[in-house]
Amino acid sequence: MMEEPVSYMNNKDKCIVCFKEREKDFELIGHHVSYFPEIIAFVHYQCHAKIHDPDKPIAYLIQYEEGDSRKFYEEKTKWQVITDGLQKQILVWLN
Ligand SMILES: [Zn+2]
Ligand SMILES: [Zn+2]
Repeated sequence: MMEEPVSYMNNKDKCIVCFKEREKDFELIGHHVSYFPEIIAFVHYQCHAKIHDPDKPIAYLIQYEEGDSRKFYEEKTKWQVITDGLQKQILVWLN
């Protein structure tokens, strides 16, 4: 079974929304810009909330269709069942 490659829009030290460095002792979180293919952007927790702001979301960072998120996690769950026992580390991404 092939795993799709993951692309990252930026590195884990600088937020793609405000362009500031991560705060000491706080990891930036992974936001899914797209699920198919999988594209991740790293952002502050607060900046992540701005991306998903219901009034004015940051459109260029949301390139997936409604329903992709659910489909993605359904597939991930299947894959994790198959590889259960091999997988030492499970990364939990926020949407
Ligand atoms: Zn930020
Ligand atoms: Zn997100």
